[in-house]
Amino acid sequence: MASFDIPGSPSASFDKAAIVAYINSLPPQRKWWEGGKKFAFNFGWKEIYAYDGWTCIYCGKDLIEHEDIVATSTEEHLVPQSLFITSAEANTENNVVACCAGCNGLKGPAVPPPSDPAWNSRKEYIAGAREYIIKRRVDRITQYAQYVAVSKIKRLFPSPTNRLLDYV
Ligand SMILES: [Zn+2]
Repeated sequence: MASFDIPGSPSASFDKAAIVAYINSLPPQRKWWEGGKKFAFNFGWKEIYAYDGWTCIYCGKDLIEHEDIVATSTEEHLVPQSLFITSAEANTENNVVACCAGCNGLKGPAVPPPSDPAWNSRKEYIAGAREYIIKRRVDRITQYAQYVAVSKIKRLFPSPTNRLLDYV
């Protein structure tokens, strides 16, 4: 499976320059993210959302279950906009997807390393990004779990004299 990471971060084995060089070295037929209609001219966010069934491409959340969910969702770039020279190159039908706010924040600017199989196809890339997001989500839920538990206890027993909290 792909090992998505943020270029230049301490855990990453590659930096932004290496990814940009890799992308630029690929022949046009390998650049799946350049395919489809150009977003800025004849393709808008409503078409993107309709194409993805108004669900998050990564977690499958129903984006029209509530107005707030779609209002805080974003058009997500599979290959980050920051790797392109102009935003027009990044805004294509194949590269822009519907995404919930949570998944967008968790993915951030992460990409697969140069030559990773995830670059081979849009489908493999999405699968790799989904795996990265799920791992980050689980890490954060685990990290916050004890604070959530303590906060719930404090709500149940708001008195400052509650000695139960001395044990957590
Ligand atoms: Zn999501």
